[in-house]
Amino acid sequence: MTKSEAKIRIEKLKTEIDFHRYNYHVLDRETISEAALDSLKNELFLLENDYPDLITADSPTQRVAGEPLEKFKKVAHSQPMISLFDAFSEADMRAWEERNENFLGRPLKQEYYGELKLDGLAINLRYEKTLLVSGATRGDGKIGEEVTNNIRTINSIPLKLKIPAEKDLEALGFTEQAITEILRLIKEGVIEIRGEAIMNKKVLAELNKKYVQEGRPELANTRNGVAGSIRQLDPRITAERKLDFYAYDVLLREESGQILERGEIITRRDQADQLAGLLGLKILKQNKLCRDLNEVFSFYTAVEKKRETLPFEIDGTVIKINDLKMWNVLGIVGKAPRYMMAYKFSAEQATTKVKEIIWQVGRTGALTPTAVLESVKVGGAIISRSTLHNFDEIKRLDLRLGDTVIIERSGDVIPKVVTVLKNLRTGQEKKVFPPKKCPMCEGAVEKVGEEVAYRCLNKKCYAINLRQITHFASKGAANLEGLGPKLIEQFLTEGIIKDAADLYSIEKSELLSLERFAEKKADNVVTMMAARKVLELDQFIYGLGIRHVGEETAQLLAKIVAAKKAKKTTNMAIDELITIFSSFDLAELESLEDIGPIVSASIYDFWRNEHNLKLLRKFEKNGVSLSLQKVNNLSGASGQEMKLANKSFVLTGTLASLTRGEAKDKIKALGGKVKENVSADTDYLVLGAEPGSKYEKAKKLGLKILTEKEFLEIIK
Ligand SMILES: [Zn+2]
Repeated sequence: MTKSEAKIRIEKLKTEIDFHRYNYHVLDRETISEAALDSLKNELFLLENDYPDLITADSPTQRVAGEPLEKFKKVAHSQPMISLFDAFSEADMRAWEERNENFLGRPLKQEYYGELKLDGLAINLRYEKTLLVSGATRGDGKIGEEVTNNIRTINSIPLKLKIPAEKDLEALGFTEQAITEILRLIKEGVIEIRGEAIMNKKVLAELNKKYVQEGRPELANTRNGVAGSIRQLDPRITAERKLDFYAYDVLLREESGQILERGEIITRRDQADQLAGLLGLKILKQNKLCRDLNEVFSFYTAVEKKRETLPFEIDGTVIKINDLKMWNVLGIVGKAPRYMMAYKFSAEQATTKVKEIIWQVGRTGALTPTAVLESVKVGGAIISRSTLHNFDEIKRLDLRLGDTVIIERSGDVIPKVVTVLKNLRTGQEKKVFPPKKCPMCEGAVEKVGEEVAYRCLNKKCYAINLRQITHFASKGAANLEGLGPKLIEQFLTEGIIKDAADLYSIEKSELLSLERFAEKKADNVVTMMAARKVLELDQFIYGLGIRHVGEETAQLLAKIVAAKKAKKTTNMAIDELITIFSSFDLAELESLEDIGPIVSASIYDFWRNEHNLKLLRKFEKNGVSLSLQKVNNLSGASGQEMKLANKSFVLTGTLASLTRGEAKDKIKALGGKVKENVSADTDYLVLGAEPGSKYEKAKKLGLKILTEKEFLEIIK
């Protein structure tokens, strides 16, 4: 993105975010999920990070959520109630630490304090001479709404602070002098407690049950529940909602005057947390001191696992530098502090851009569109694709190429496009049209009657394609272990691959976009494919599925190709293979032993078909290359001792100790021939488990029948 593009994008993001924020925080109306809004804010933050001179004072990254409602009395906060920057990944967290180190110009060896990020309403409580005198919402950060009467109904908020015992303060590591100061300020000064008012999940469920019975609208979630309970004028309603409160900050102040500097008396964040507990407030017992970022990551993972079992909703963790003196040093950038970070759980919605629409032929010939996305983390996984079902869905969404969209993914359900953020368009977006021809067979396409789907008119299109790819992946060909017909069909119908060559460009993020595709399974596929990019020449030729070219013929062709190779190396590029095959004329092919005119014609045509050549070049582009090792071994043996020279073998049934392909290779390496069918000329029938009709026929003909053990003796 160029700077001028970034500038346009930043302006559009600002307007969009502001619109949703106003609705959400001021009007309590949800026009977009918080997760999607966070995603937009994160994009803005990263863009501004790249172009700091494009940051303006009105940027959402520079301001704090919400404006105070008119109906409440205003309270100026003695110290601004700041909002936080968001991180969603370990990479984000490491980048945060790095930014701080750059800012300081030295390594930041710091303890962090990990806290749960409660999903409620931030409240500032003011205690004067131990008595609760005021409670206020965050408002715009500087001015909040006075809601004292409402918060007085919350039972976990003490109306009078407890005075801690000296020995308890000592146990928290406070110096004698600090203890004297703390006790004096509690008794004679002002203590401000900041924390989160929340509604427990159980309370929400009970309330909603009651509301349903009374025919009243249900509360959308616990946070809406708590905001609606506090930001209204009747304390009885607040009381009915049974809210709870957890402290996350303690500020000390003389009776008249400024808040005391951070780190002056209370030096550590974990100390402050415990102090709030001694003052009679509820604190989160899950909060944890972490020695470094690695411990932060373990804390985060452990919290995420416990999330469901907690009595309240959390949307992540807050990670704070534990040394409070550092808070002053690092300070605030924009309107959020450098010294703490909201490290949030990966949300089930995120925003990203649509790069491309691809069309896929399904089992019935129906063409299904898939959106190819800029990779984005959503629902705990990086994804890059989303199904669009059919063309009507594209029309309904009014989706265009280049659009910013909200993607949703929960659990293992395939990601979907929820909505298009049309306000973010630049005018460069391209309309999407249904395909004019089939993306697979390039045949005609038709929209049938009232059906929503476009179809490929070639009835065999899908089946042929599936069969070809399955054949390519099979053991005698590319031997793509674990890629059975079922999986290939899933890849095909869900838009990951169009042909066999595409198997080599599958990315993990694409697999995670599929249904029932867990991390481990995706890893296995990607690792397996990466390890199989070098294919034996004969197996590759066989895998191409050239008509009438079985394993035997493929080996024969491989030998001839190897002999034609300019440089006698053991590897070959697909490009060279194309050159060699294109150089064969029909007569040359026909002159080969064991290859008749029909087979020759089929081979000849295959290498002159543009569709096939396109596929071959795609293999090359995706990093596939060929090995001549096996072919050289096969031909190498011919000059040496030929133990099985001119002996012909037929195999039937399954061998226990080696695959059929291996058995054939062994026989050929020793000069023998392998035939498909039993005849009077056959020298040996090798008998495996569950043999076919060949066994009966061989018995009738009185042929020599070898057990597996006897066969192994012969080829030893
Ligand atoms: Zn087709």
